[in-house]
Amino acid sequence: MRSGKRDSWTVSPGIGLAGRILLVAAGYYLAGLIGLQLRLPPYGVSIIWPLNAILLAALMLIPVRMWWFCLLALVPVHLNLVTFFQPANIPIPTMFGQFAANAFQAVVAALALRPLAGFPPRLDTLRQMTGFVLLAAVAAPALASILATFLFVMTGWVDDFWFTWRMRFLTNVFATLTFTPLILLTVAEGTASLRNAPVRRYVEFGLVIAGLFAVGIPVFGLEDAGPKSYPALIYAPLPLLLWVASRFGLRPLCLALLVIAFISLANAVAARGPFATNSAEENLTQLQLYLVAMALPLIFLTTVLRERRRAVSALQRSEEEARRQLAQLSAIYRATPTGLAFVDTELRYVSVNDYLAEINQLPAAAHTGRTLKEVLGDFAEEIEPLYRRVIKTGQPIVDTEVNMRGAAVGPGAGRVWLRSYHPVKNAEGNVLGVNTMVQEITARKRAEETLQNIAAGVAAKIGETFFRSLAEHISRALQVEYTFVCEVLEGNSRARTIASHFDGGEINSIEYDLVDTPCEQVLRHGMYACPRDVKVAFPRDLLLQVMEVEGYLGICLKDSAGRALGLMAVMTRKPLLDMESTQATLSIFAVRAAAELERKQAEDRLRSREQDLRMSEERYREVVESQTDLVCRYLADGTLTFANEAYCRFFGYPREKMIGRKFLEFIPENVRASAAASIERLKKERLPLEGEHEVIRPDGSVAWQHWLDYAIIGPDGEAIEFQGIGRDITDRKRAEEANHKLVHASRLAMVGELAAIVAHELSQPLSAMLNNAASAELILRQSIGPELNELREIVADIREDNQRASASIRRLRTLLRKQQIELQPLDVNDVIADALHMVNGEAVRRRIQVKAECDADLPLVRGDRLHLQQVLLNLILNGMDAMDATLKPERHLRIHVARSGNGTIEVAVRDAGQGIPPDMLPHIFQSFYTTKREGMGLGLSIAKSIIEAHLGRIWAENNSTGGATFYFTLPVDHEATAAPP
Ligand code: ADP
Repeated sequence: MRSGKRDSWTVSPGIGLAGRILLVAAGYYLAGLIGLQLRLPPYGVSIIWPLNAILLAALMLIPVRMWWFCLLALVPVHLNLVTFFQPANIPIPTMFGQFAANAFQAVVAALALRPLAGFPPRLDTLRQMTGFVLLAAVAAPALASILATFLFVMTGWVDDFWFTWRMRFLTNVFATLTFTPLILLTVAEGTASLRNAPVRRYVEFGLVIAGLFAVGIPVFGLEDAGPKSYPALIYAPLPLLLWVASRFGLRPLCLALLVIAFISLANAVAARGPFATNSAEENLTQLQLYLVAMALPLIFLTTVLRERRRAVSALQRSEEEARRQLAQLSAIYRATPTGLAFVDTELRYVSVNDYLAEINQLPAAAHTGRTLKEVLGDFAEEIEPLYRRVIKTGQPIVDTEVNMRGAAVGPGAGRVWLRSYHPVKNAEGNVLGVNTMVQEITARKRAEETLQNIAAGVAAKIGETFFRSLAEHISRALQVEYTFVCEVLEGNSRARTIASHFDGGEINSIEYDLVDTPCEQVLRHGMYACPRDVKVAFPRDLLLQVMEVEGYLGICLKDSAGRALGLMAVMTRKPLLDMESTQATLSIFAVRAAAELERKQAEDRLRSREQDLRMSEERYREVVESQTDLVCRYLADGTLTFANEAYCRFFGYPREKMIGRKFLEFIPENVRASAAASIERLKKERLPLEGEHEVIRPDGSVAWQHWLDYAIIGPDGEAIEFQGIGRDITDRKRAEEANHKLVHASRLAMVGELAAIVAHELSQPLSAMLNNAASAELILRQSIGPELNELREIVADIREDNQRASASIRRLRTLLRKQQIELQPLDVNDVIADALHMVNGEAVRRRIQVKAECDADLPLVRGDRLHLQQVLLNLILNGMDAMDATLKPERHLRIHVARSGNGTIEVAVRDAGQGIPPDMLPHIFQSFYTTKREGMGLGLSIAKSIIEAHLGRIWAENNSTGGATFYFTLPVDHEATAAPP
């Protein structure tokens, strides 16, 4: 038996295309040799023709595009085979015809089989095998045999068409059924199953093959053919073949079939056994049909068994997989930290997982069959409507929050859940029950509420209240025994508690050293956590020892610039367990606390500064208020912004009524202008200004004050306010005045005496002169001569002058005799004319232009002519004095008289002199006030008393263009004015 091709195929997947084609060529050659050996005489037709089966297997195993190459390569092989081994009478065209038919058969079979068996080809299923048998083993050989036989007949090699067709057809069927699967399976499945098979399998297979020989040899060889033989015995190998088919599969079956074929063939060739009884032609057909009939059911049986086995193992695998997945799912179901339950439409538990069982405080198994009401009690009433709704609508309800915090007892009391309900439906869409998912969110809820509570508890508060509230809320929320909020002092070496909470109460503020304390670590690192044994870690921290602190967490409170302001710490007597959430909560409020601490410290600083300020202000106020001096402050327009007690008392107004008044209203009208001028000077010169002036008290009395004023300079260098320190000098003034009057009086007395002496002395010579003048006139009256007329005029003038001088002396004597002023109707114009007449010569001498602007229609006044003349003379002479330094063109003196309001006549004497210093204005009418070297300082004082004796008023003003103007008024004499002249 020469069938050594299998090994070469087993390595074929690893070798290249050329190698494969070489292998195919070798196989083809070898198969040809075998086929040629298995010819049954006398026809020379091979009983088994494996050549085409091998070619089919080869085409099935190489890509279609390489087929032509493979077939081309086989042409010389075929020719060689035929030439050397076939009888020499084969014509050349027949040889090509043989090859063409072989190639045609293989190509047709391969093309038909490929879509069914795939590539690499498989014959695993019944469908594939049926297709293989019908297309490759039956149809293709049938067709090819027609072609081959036709060619043989045409070339004249054979004559009997049907006989040749049948021979060729049958010889190909069995070969295709056995060789092709053997090769294809070996290439497809490799040798792994052979290598892995246990030895006993080999032994078993060896025994079966041996059995086949043992049965085959007697059945096909030993028994003589003839009438005594039992034809049925040819089926004796069938049990063994069935054994191989059912126990070993297709490949061993093919081998076994080939063994039987070999035994039966060998015997038939040797003309032994059941297939040697008839004609050779008949024997051949019988044998071939026998082999095909044996092979076909067995091959199908193996295929079915194989398919079945594969299906079973696939089922097993998928079952295993399903079981594994189920185990996995049920493990997840049981252990998942989410409560899961399935409840049927009658609201009875079908299954629950361990997590939910624990929540429900009932073992998982005990749930089964119980209703919601039985398991959950009153709580069931709350959730049953949800289940019913899901069952009714078929729609899920997702994430409903169930708060059991209020419940004191029962499953899930004190916790918060998130529940979802999903309907479970059958294939028709009917709801079978409800899957429930229960998730505990108590911790999340609590954390949220904690934060909300603390935030709400401290939101509206500031300062110490804030810190107290914060400490209290944090203690409660984090369930810690101690909470401290501290601020650091003295360059971070000490700390003081701002707020603290301890076992539900507050502790008084304490101050402590930071050295060797966990707080020191907090300040150093920004945060410090010690979940346990903190008092062991910091043995020198006595507070920790006293308070028996075990767990500690502290966070530094920093200001916006990152400077440590303080710290916030929580402490527990047991180890601090939930460090992460404690830290998170503390961190959140540390930010707020730091901001508040920064604000508080800034506020403290401000407050202490304010207090210092207030104290110093208090001190100053006390000093100022206790003063007997008057102290006030005022703005540039005189508005008082401050007045001390003494000031208010002096003017008799309470402070609130004093502030906002203008102090100028306390000053007599005539002095106000100079007061305003003084403020202007203060503003400009910024030098302290001293002055004295009269003031009017609320009762109308006049008092005197001495003031020292200075400007207060603002940041921009401008005077913003003025301060005055004053003193009541009324008494001093009165004494001075009295003194002045005394001096004045004594001087007046002296002057009066002097004047009386002078008047007396002058009256003698004057009367002597008058007598002489009268005598001279008398003489002249008697003399005649035109030249004497001039002399007469001179003497008359002398007499008139003498009389006037005498009148003056008389009046002086009258004045000195303190005679009353004689008031008579008087024309002021006349008085002015007299006065001008008197100063005319002086004016010319001093080069001063004197001009009077009189009004002829003036009413008469009541006055004393001489006294008024004296007043005018004094004013004119003072004006001339003032213009000593004035340049010539400006030396004007104007006298203006006009009617003024209130029934008075106003006379003004205006000069262009140096003017009067404003601060002197109040003094010029005082007796003995003079700025002249030889002045008496009496002129204006006398003028004032004369005018006031006339019920008039006299005053002076500086001109805007320079110089001064002196005014006096005299009341109109209405009676005299109204009377006809
Ligand atoms: P006397 O002329 O002797 O000084 P008066 O009482 O007449 O005395 O004047 C007092 C002072 O008033 C003068 O010394 C002078 O300083 C001032 N005075 C008076 N009239 C004028 C004036 N027209 N211009 C400037 N200063 C004047």
